[in-house]
Amino acid sequence: MRIGVPKEIKNHEYRVGLVPSSVRELVAHGHEVVVETHAGYGIGLDDDRYEAAGATILSTPEEVFATADMIVKVKEPQPVEIARLRPGQILFTYLHLAPDLEQTKGLIDSGCIAIAYETVTDAHGRLPLLAPMSEVAGRMSIQAGAHCLEKAQGGNGMLLGGVPGVAAANVVILGGGVVGTNAARMAMGLEAKVTIFDMSLHRLYELDMQFGATLNTIFSTRDAVEEYVMQADLVIGAVLVPGAAAPKLISRDMVSRMKRGSVLVDVAIDQGGCFETSKPTTHAEPTYIVDEVVHYCVANMPGGVARTSTFALNNATLPFTLSLADKGWRQALYDNAYLKEGLNVHEGRVTYKAVADAHGLPF
Ligand code: NAD
Repeated sequence: MRIGVPKEIKNHEYRVGLVPSSVRELVAHGHEVVVETHAGYGIGLDDDRYEAAGATILSTPEEVFATADMIVKVKEPQPVEIARLRPGQILFTYLHLAPDLEQTKGLIDSGCIAIAYETVTDAHGRLPLLAPMSEVAGRMSIQAGAHCLEKAQGGNGMLLGGVPGVAAANVVILGGGVVGTNAARMAMGLEAKVTIFDMSLHRLYELDMQFGATLNTIFSTRDAVEEYVMQADLVIGAVLVPGAAAPKLISRDMVSRMKRGSVLVDVAIDQGGCFETSKPTTHAEPTYIVDEVVHYCVANMPGGVARTSTFALNNATLPFTLSLADKGWRQALYDNAYLKEGLNVHEGRVTYKAVADAHGLPF
C-alpha cells in the first residue's frame, strides 16, 4: 500500500502523522511511504530523516493526496484537504465529527473511508488513541500551573514544592483519570501537597494503591470540592463525563472566594470546561484573570509540546496503521472490532451512531 503523510496546515499545528521510525516499520512491511516536504520540520524531523527511513519526499500536498491509498494525519482535514480526498481512499486521523457538520458533509461527499483516532476503543472500553494526548495534557497542566503561579503571570508567587523551611503549594486535581493521574505524578514529583478528587470509589482505591500516603484521595462532593478549592494554590480541572459537557464543579461565586493569586488550569475546556469562569484560550494568549484568580484554558495543550505529542501519538497509532496497510481496511476492521469503532464515514455514509445522531443523518 502507498501511505501519504501531508504537512499539517491548521494554524500552529506542528505535529505530524508519522515519525521516521514509523515510516521505517511500514517500509519493512513492504509498503511505500510518501511524505510532504517539511512535514516534520517544525519538530526537528527534517526531510533527510524521512528519506533515511525509506520515505519519498514530495514537494506538494496535491501529490501526496493524489498518490496515496491511505492518508495518515493528526488534525481533522481542512476544507482544502477534504477536496483532495477521493472515493475509496483511507483517511486515518483525529476527526471529532460530532460538532462539525461541514466536515462531516465534506467527508461524505468525498467517498473516502474515514477512520477517527478518537473513537477507536480497547478491551477495557478505553480510548487508546486519545490517552496519549491526555497523558501529555495532564503532565503539562502542572508545568503550566507552576508558571502561572509566578508573580509576573498574576500568580501568588509560590514555588510548587516550597524549599526547606517554607511550605509547599496546595494542588487540587478534580478528576482522577488519565489527565488527573499524570498531573498528580508531576505535582508530587515537584513536592507539592496534592489532593485528587474522583466520583469513582474504585478509581480512588486504585490511586491510593498506586501512590500511597503521598497522595490525598477525596470522594468528589460539592462540599469537599468547595472546602479544598478555598485552600488551593493550583486547581487542575480534569473531569470527563463521556458523551456530555463537563460538569461545572467550581462556580463563579467560589472563584470570587478563592485565594488571591491562585491558579485554575481547566484541561477539560475542550468539553466546555469544569469551572464556570472558563473560556477557551490559545497558546499565544493562554491566560486571563477573573477576581484575581489566574485562568489557563488552552483547548489544545498537546500542540504546545508537538514533538513529544507526535511521538506519543505514533506509539499508539502505529499498530493500527500497520494493520490497515498490511490487510487493507476491510480485513483490518473485520479482524479488530476495536479498530472498527473508529470507522466514522464509509463511502458516502456516516457509520458512527453518535455522529449521525448529532447531525440528524441516516445511520
Ligand atoms: P478520563 O475519563 O480518563 O478521566 C476523567 C475522570 O473524571 C474519571 O475518573 C471520572 O470518574 C472523573 N469524574 C467525572 N465526574 C467527576 C466529578 N464530578 N468529580 C470528580 N471526578 C469526576 O478522562 P481524561 O482522559 O483524563 O480527560 C479529562 C479531560 O481532559 C477530558 O475532558 C478531555 O477531553 C480533556 N483533555 C483536554 C486536553 C486539552 O488540550 N485541553 C487534552 C487532553 C484531554
